[in-house]
Amino acid sequence: MTDDAAAAPTCLARPLPGPDENGIGCAAARGVDGRPLHAAALKFFWGPMDCGKSTMALQMNYNHARQGRRGLVTTRIDRSLGPQVTSRIGLAHSAVEVTDSLDLRTLVRDTWAEGVRVDYLICDEASFYNVEHVEQMAELVDGYDVDVYAFGLATDFRSCLFPAAQRLFELADEVARIQIEVLCWCGREGLLNARVVDGRVVREGAQVVIGDTADSAEVRYQVRYQVLCRRHYRSGDLGPRS
Ligand SMILES: [Zn+2]
Repeated sequence: MTDDAAAAPTCLARPLPGPDENGIGCAAARGVDGRPLHAAALKFFWGPMDCGKSTMALQMNYNHARQGRRGLVTTRIDRSLGPQVTSRIGLAHSAVEVTDSLDLRTLVRDTWAEGVRVDYLICDEASFYNVEHVEQMAELVDGYDVDVYAFGLATDFRSCLFPAAQRLFELADEVARIQIEVLCWCGREGLLNARVVDGRVVREGAQVVIGDTADSAEVRYQVRYQVLCRRHYRSGDLGPRS
C-alpha cells in the first residue's frame, strides 16, 4: 500500500465508530478478549525530504474526516516552526505540537474528556518524536482502538535511522515507503538527506538542525539539506548547480 488512495478503503471499510456508554469512543463488535474485532492499526509512511509526506498526511486527514471520522493532527518541527502542518505545495492544517513532555495518550484522553471523539491520529514529522511517543502510539492502537498514521523521514543526515523511525519500523503494523520520487541532481532516485554547511556535505553534528536559520548573529554559516542518491551522498557531490 503506497498512497492514501490505496490506504483509505482499508480504513474506511471498518465500521464507523459510534458512541459507547459514555457517548464517545468506539462501539464496534468485540472478540473474546474484549477488544474490537476490527483492530486499529499503526502505520508508518516514510520517505526522504520533499517527497510529499506532509501533503499525504493532510490528504489522509481530509479523506478520513470526509467519511465522518474524527482525528487529531500532531507535528514536531514543521517547516513553518509553528503548531501546524504545512506542505510545500501550499496546504496547511492546525496541529498539536509534540514536545518531550507531551503524552499522546493523555492528549487523546483529554480530548475525549471534552466530549470530542478521536478515531485516529495523524502524526507528521514523526521521526523527530521521542521513542516514548512511538510506544504511546502503539498503546493508542492496542488499548484505545485509535488508528495512528505516522509520517516521517527514515534516516538523518548521517544516513542513520532516527530513533523514533527505527521504533516505528519495529512496531508498526504496516510500513510503506512513499512512492513519489525525489530525484538527485544526476537524475537517479533521491534516497538520502544530506546536510550541507557552507556548500559542503557534513556527516557529523547534532541529529536535528533546522535548515535555513542563519539569521541569528551566532550562526555564521548556512545550513541546508539536499536529497541525493546514494552514490552522490557517499561522494559528497552536490552537482553542478551547488
Ligand atoms: Zn546522484
